[in-house]
Parts: sequence; C-alpha cells; structure tokens
Amino acid sequence: MSSYFRNVYDGLVTVLIGMKVTWKHLFTPAVTIQYPDVKPKLPERARNRLYVNIDDCIGCDQCSMACPVDCITIETIKSTPDVDLGLTSLGTKKRLYVPRFDIDIAKCCYCGLCVYPCPTECIKMTDVYEFSEFDRQNLIYSFAVMTPAEVDQAKAKLVAYDKEQAAKKAAAAAAKAAAPAPAPPAAPPQQPETKA
Ligand code: SF4
Ligand code: SF4
Repeated sequence: MSSYFRNVYDGLVTVLIGMKVTWKHLFTPAVTIQYPDVKPKLPERARNRLYVNIDDCIGCDQCSMACPVDCITIETIKSTPDVDLGLTSLGTKKRLYVPRFDIDIAKCCYCGLCVYPCPTECIKMTDVYEFSEFDRQNLIYSFAVMTPAEVDQAKAKLVAYDKEQAAKKAAAAAAKAAAPAPAPPAAPPQQPETKA
C-alpha cells in the first residue's frame, strides 16, 4: 500500500516539475516569429540578392574580376568620340556601352567581394533573400537595358569609326613615306688654323 502512495507522490512531483517549465515559458517573450507572415529584421550589412544600377555602371569589369566564382558576365562596346554617354551619379564619365551585365545568382556565394571595388557604387547587396526558382535559368539576372537594335547600332558605329581611324593612319603614313627626305644638315664652317 505504501508503494502505491509513493508512486502517486512521484507522479505528482514529476508533473509539477514538467509544468514548472511550461509555466515559466508561458510568461517568457517569444523568440520565434510567424515567418513568412512576419519577416525577421536583417542586420545592417546582411548579404542577400545583388542589384546593379546599370545607369551608373561604367563597364570597368572590376566587380567581375573580383568575383571568386565567375558568376558576373559583362560585355562592353566602346563609344565613339561624338557620343556622350553622360555621367554617373558620382560624376564619373561613361565611355562604354554595357550591352550585357548578367549575374548568375545560383552560383553566387554572397561573399560581397564584387561590391567593394565598384568605383561608382552601383552594385549593391539588397535586403531581398526570398528568390527561389524552379528553373535555374531564372536565377540569371540581366541588368543591361540596351535593345538588340541599339547594340547593333553601337557596334556598327564603332566598326565604322575604327575603319575611319585606320584609313587616316594609313594616309598619314603614306604621306610621310612620299615626302622628300630632309636635306642633311650643313657641315659647320672650318675654323682657320692659327699659327703658334
Ligand atoms: S557576392 Fe561574391 S560570388 Fe556573388 S557575385 Fe559578388 S563576388 Fe561573385
Ligand atoms: S565595378 Fe561597378 S562600374 Fe565597374 S563594371 Fe562592375 S558594376 Fe559596373
């Protein structure tokens, strides 16, 4: 009989110990959130999805060269002297068209190494971290805005300019070759010999 009461006692003590933890947590502020309805507050320098303000990009390729996994692909076309591509927000003159600026975010390891060398501060980490896709191709983000017609036009213009420059250079070289050779400099007059 005594073991019966002993068991009841042990059971009650065990329940009370368990409920003590439960009661304690009932009055402790929650550390979990109802994600995705509630989003966590990200640290100030959190590294997430990249964004490129293509209007400020000068096509210098520094971000691409800094990327350890080669996930940035940039193509540029030189502008001709008669074209003014304008200035970036920080006042840098733009001299190159950027017909292609792709980031394959599926390869990106969010190291942030592309952000620091950018001279115009146009490639940035955003606070966007939900961008999963079913198709990997959709994870290649293209930031260039030139249309195929504009790209063709810029390329054609550069080819014509290069041809014109090459023709000018060839004409200058031909003119130089055809010009008569300059007369050799006259010999200095002989000094009369002095007698001792
Ligand atoms: S964050 Fe790192 S891996 Fe991603 S694009 Fe930039 S340099 Fe490349
Ligand atoms: S470093 Fe900046 S300016 Fe240079 S290509 Fe990359 S994004 Fe453009």
